[in-house]
This record gives sequence, C-alpha cells and structure tokens, in this order.
Amino acid sequence: KLYNQVQDLKGNIRVYCRVRPFIGRQSNFTSTVDSIEEGTISINTPSKYGKGRRSFNFNKVFGPSATQGEVFEDTRPLIRSVLDGYNVCIFAYGQTGSGKTHTMTGPKDLTEDNQGVNYRALNDLFFLAEQRKGTLQYDVSVQMIEIYNEQVRDLLSTDGSTKRLEIRNNSQNGFNVPEASLMRVSSTYDVIDLMALGHKNRVVGATALNDRSSRSHSCLTVHVQGRDLTSGAVLRGCMHLVDLAGSERVDKSEVTGDRLKEAQHINRSLSALGDVISSLAQKNAHVPYRNSKLTQLLQDSLGGQAKTLMFVHISPELDAVGETLSTLKFAERVA
Ligand code: ADP
Ligand code: MG
Repeated sequence: KLYNQVQDLKGNIRVYCRVRPFIGRQSNFTSTVDSIEEGTISINTPSKYGKGRRSFNFNKVFGPSATQGEVFEDTRPLIRSVLDGYNVCIFAYGQTGSGKTHTMTGPKDLTEDNQGVNYRALNDLFFLAEQRKGTLQYDVSVQMIEIYNEQVRDLLSTDGSTKRLEIRNNSQNGFNVPEASLMRVSSTYDVIDLMALGHKNRVVGATALNDRSSRSHSCLTVHVQGRDLTSGAVLRGCMHLVDLAGSERVDKSEVTGDRLKEAQHINRSLSALGDVISSLAQKNAHVPYRNSKLTQLLQDSLGGQAKTLMFVHISPELDAVGETLSTLKFAERVA
C-alpha cells in the first residue's frame, strides 16, 4: 500500500544501478567508480572522455559488494503488486559481461544464496499466493521467449521447433504471444526446470563461437490470475523479467554481414525501449511503442498503471569506461 502511494507520487518507473565487482584475478585493479552514495554514482573519466569526474543519479545504486538478497529486497514490493493485478516489467540493461544475467538468474552454479531476481520473485509470488489462499485462488503460468533480430522465438518448446512467432493483441489478454508455450507452474521448482529448458533452447540456437545469449533479449513472462473466492471476481497481473541483449556499440568498420545486422537490430530495439521509457517518464502524450518487437510485446506492461524497474549494470574496468558512460547516460535519460 505505502509503496503504491509512493509510486503514485514519483511515477511508476524506477532505475537502479548495479556495479559488478572485479572478477577472477582482477582484484587489485582500480575501479572507474569513484564513489557511491545512496542514489548517486561518480565515475572517474580518463582524458579521452574529458578527464574528471561525472556523477549520475538513480533511485538506488548497488555497489560491487551488494548481495543478491540485498538487490532483491528493493524489488519485492513489485512482486506483491503483480498479485494485486498490476503489470510489471523488470529489465536488466548493460554491456555484455556487466552482470545482467547474474542479477536476473544468478551464476552458473546456483545456490539458494546466489540465485537472482527471477527465482526470488517466483518464490515470493508463491509464498504470497499461499498466504492469501483463504480469500483468493491464484493460477500462475509462465512463458519464455527470445527476441533475436526482431524475431520472436519460443524458448519453452519441447519439440525443438524454432518457428517465428507473432505478437498479437486481443481484448482479453492484451498484447501477447499466443503460440508460445504456456506452462502452468505451482512451485519455484517447476520454474527452475522450465528455465533450464529455456536456457538449453537458447544455446541450441547459437554456434559455439558466438554466444547468442548476449545478442538477443530473453523474456520470462509470469501470468497470474486470481479469483476471489466469495465474489468470483477475477484479477489478472503479469510480470515480464527481461534479460536484454548487450548494449555495447560495435564498430561498423570491424563487423560485417550477419554480425552487423544483429548489432543494428540490438541498437534499434534498445533505443526504442529507451524512447518509450523516457517518454513515459516525461508523461508525453505519444509513446512510440511500435518501433520494436520488444516494446510492442510489453506495451500493456509499460505505462498506465504498470510498474517498471530497470537495473542498469556497469563493469568497473578502465577499458570499459566508454560503455559505462554510455550506459549511465542511457539510464539517466529514462530515470
Ligand atoms: P552479462 O549477462 O551482462 O553478459 P554476466 O551476468 O554473465 O554478464 O556476468 C559476467 C560474469 O561476472 C559472470 O561470470 C558472473 O558470474 C560475474 N558477475 C556478474 N555480476 C556479479 C556480481 N554482482 N557478483 C559476482 N560475480 C558477478
Ligand atoms: Mg547474460
């Protein structure tokens, strides 16, 4: 309740920044992050970018030592609102290697402590649904799709089918992908199994050299339907958990053919997302949803009563500073 009131005052868009720690043998490297204070992060910029310090403001900044649990704590109120019938989008944005998948899913060796937002969100969802079962009966089902080169593909198909799917709009379900597998789930374990299948299907589409997961958007959609046991009234909410394609710019002089085409699709769809969120943040009358598959698909869950959370990720390395600055500028535009 309180959260909803606060949201009404501040708008329904929140942006959190997360800084990845150094990994492997980099532990004594110097970070480009100068300081983090509440919602402000300052970056030391080398001379190439005008030597000095630049600060950016967000709703919250998580430093390199923030745990998965701490990060999720500030996501929790959104989960409750899905069960109240709101639509929610949670995005992970950032260059490849900055920690998007870590935040959303977790590292390869998953434990209860290091699991990401997706699992924790579903856990909360089932827990809250159970708490309410005296008054409401909830059904939860999930879909998982990938958007690659502006084509939508089912990640939960069990027959290995890779056909292109259409986004449709109908009065009952709004914008959706009716042909993508819709799986009923009743516990976090079900979801873990499905995500493993989704991950496997995503990898099948990629060649060994080219990790496709960094160049496609993946979206886990959780559909929730609650029926009031006394009145029979039905409420619907849905939550999209989106691990976006890497935001790094590729040098046109270095890539050609398919790789260039991929890069152009990614650039275009990420700017379309930025345009939609920033026009919502500015309360513009016209919101340009139609410029990408991603924003078409999420149309009902961006704007209006829907709530949006964007995690922007940055890498601490000096050689990433160009991408770090462009990530923070992108995020500042939507914040
Ligand atoms: P992305 O999905 O943006 O390409 P990943 O999530 O795969 O990036 O992260 C790159 C590497 O850094 C992985 O090995 C991941 O486990 C590790 N990593 C990312 N964020 C963190 C973090 N907050 N704490 C520890 N390791 C992290
Ligand atoms: Mg990833």
